[in-house]
Amino acid sequence: MDSHAVRMRMVQRLAAGGIANASVLAAMGAVERHRFVDSALVNQSYEDTSLPIGLGQTISKPSVVARMIELLLAGTPSASGKLGRVLEIGTGCGYQAAVLSVVATEVYSIERLRGLHDKARDNLRPFRLANVHLLFGDGMAGFAKGAPYAGIIAAAGGEAVPQAWIDQLAVGGRIVAPTLTASGHQALVVMEKTPREMKQTVLEAVHFVPLKSGIA
Ligand code: SAH
Repeated sequence: MDSHAVRMRMVQRLAAGGIANASVLAAMGAVERHRFVDSALVNQSYEDTSLPIGLGQTISKPSVVARMIELLLAGTPSASGKLGRVLEIGTGCGYQAAVLSVVATEVYSIERLRGLHDKARDNLRPFRLANVHLLFGDGMAGFAKGAPYAGIIAAAGGEAVPQAWIDQLAVGGRIVAPTLTASGHQALVVMEKTPREMKQTVLEAVHFVPLKSGIA
C-alpha cells in the first residue's frame, strides 16, 4: 500500500477539523495506521473511523487520537517541543503508543488483555521504537515505577479518574481521560496538576470502550 499520500490527506482533514498543533499533525503523518489493523480493514485505515482490533476492543478514530494528544501537549513549552514521560492506559493495538512516541520522550503503555498486549508488541516490533515500553497489567493502578508522568492518557472510559493516576502525575502535568460526567454520559476530561490543586475541565462527549479492573 502506498500510504503516504492517503495519510497526508488524513492529516489535511485533521488540520481542517481544528487540530492546530504542528507536532501532533507531524506525528499523525508519521505513523502508518494501516500497519495496526487487520488486513481486511486496511482500506479503511485512514478514514476517520474507529476500527475493531479484536477481543471486543477498538482503535479510536484518528481525529480523537489527535485531539487527545493535542490536549495532552497543551501547555508543553515549545522550546523542547517534546513532552516528557507519558503513561497510556489501554495499549490496544499499539497505534496510539506509536503516535505518542513521536511527541514524548518516553511512553509507558499498559494493557489489561494479554492478547492485545501481545498483538501490540508484534505490531510495534518492526518500528523499533526504543522509547515505548509495553506493560501488561491493570492500568487503573497506573505504573508507579515510571512516575512522575508529564502526561497520562486513557484510551478507555471509567466512572472517575483513579487516584493512582493523580498521584503519579507530575506537577504541571495533565491527564486526558474519557470519564463519566455528572449527567451520566462519557466526556473527555482534562485534569491539570498545579502546586496547590487539580484543575478539571470537561470537554466534548466521546464514546470509548469501558475501563475495566483486573487483567484477563
Ligand atoms: N490506544 C489503543 C486503543 C485501545 S482501546 C490503540 O491505539 O489501539 C482501549 C484499550 O483499553 C482496550 O484494549 C482495553 O482492553 C484497555 N483497557 C481497559 N481497561 C484497562 C485497564 N484497567 N488497564 C489497562 N488497559 C485497559
